[in-house]
Amino acid sequence: MASESTLRFSAQTDEVTSLLRIVNMVRTGEATTRPEIGRITGLGRGVVTQRIDQAIEMGYLADSELAPSTGGRSARTLRFRSEQGLVVVCALGALHIRVGIADLDGALIAHAHEAWDIASGPDKTLARAMELADGLLVEQGEAPVWAVTVGLPGPVDFATGRPVAPPIMPGWNGFDVRGTVEEHFDAPAWVDNDVNLLVFGERARRHATEDDLIYCKIGSGIGSGLLSQGRVHRGANGAAGDIGHVRVNGSKEPCRCGKVGCLEAVAGGWALVRDARQAIEAENATGQLADAVRGGAPLTPEAIARAAENGDSLAIGLVQSSARVVGEAAATLVNVFNPKVFIIGGAAAAAGELFLAEVRQRVYELSLPLATRDLQIVPSVNDAQEPLRGGAALAIETLFVTTFPRWFSGGRPTVQVTASV
Ligand SMILES: [Zn+2]
Repeated sequence: MASESTLRFSAQTDEVTSLLRIVNMVRTGEATTRPEIGRITGLGRGVVTQRIDQAIEMGYLADSELAPSTGGRSARTLRFRSEQGLVVVCALGALHIRVGIADLDGALIAHAHEAWDIASGPDKTLARAMELADGLLVEQGEAPVWAVTVGLPGPVDFATGRPVAPPIMPGWNGFDVRGTVEEHFDAPAWVDNDVNLLVFGERARRHATEDDLIYCKIGSGIGSGLLSQGRVHRGANGAAGDIGHVRVNGSKEPCRCGKVGCLEAVAGGWALVRDARQAIEAENATGQLADAVRGGAPLTPEAIARAAENGDSLAIGLVQSSARVVGEAAATLVNVFNPKVFIIGGAAAAAGELFLAEVRQRVYELSLPLATRDLQIVPSVNDAQEPLRGGAALAIETLFVTTFPRWFSGGRPTVQVTASV
């Protein structure tokens, strides 16, 4: 027989569970009126009223407009108070810093961007990113920071918030990125690989809460992020999807990571820049790209992608050969993971159909029919704000899906209660 204290505990647990469920139902729009909430949860009218009063008192929900009448008396809708806290996102790339401020619905309120070399090291880079974020926060009034997401262009141990042997980030190995930003903002922080931020962004944009999806970013390097049944799959240590350094058969190209023949050393943006420069210098190449570079224009993966789309033959050749090699690696991923959607993002997305058509052809040639039966291979929205929206979505999921039971009673999350996630 259960003792009195066990009974009291389980009753309290039920109460907490239904309270958190109701807040999340209103937050996600699953149900926004008291009758709807009662219908979905099966809770009695009195209990629903009591829980909602409690959520309003704690500041999570507020009464809003009257719902459209369905015959009887109109019910008042509830809204989630997304303005009660802010999310800071610092999305660091190889050559830029992007920061953004979002509300608790994930809507981007403000953002800033600056060219920056990540090889400047963690102290200077994080200090600059936090300074940019502080500048944006000043304009936001009194709302406190509830969470911070940092995206890094390299492998990250998500559990500790530290990068692990990132090939293009000297000085960052093992650095306590999470602790540094938590101390600065006095709010819980999560650190993830930059492509995982893009996966969160795509999931939010597509409302793909149950999808299997791969996001492959071909920028300067190459990486991918995996969404499995609506959840980001990081693997045992956070290395899942890091395909930039898988071996390409027959290649001896030296890679930035110290190995030879890596995928990104053959098909990544920096490899394309290397090959384009060689062609322009050695072979007297002509055309839009060669002329522009000789005229002093910077030779970047984006410039090559744009020139290819404009019909430059040197650029087209480079982009197509990159896409063929990426297509082979993508076929392996498709066979292993069986995604519904395969998204191509980064500079390669700027080359449009030229890149996609090659990837599609290779994937269909090299994959099992069942793995490609419903597969869509599509370009990303290719919007510079993507990682910021994704970073906000990551923080909000971690706050309201993973850690909510631990901090809700205090009314807002703190570093102490969320520390072990
Ligand atoms: Zn490599």
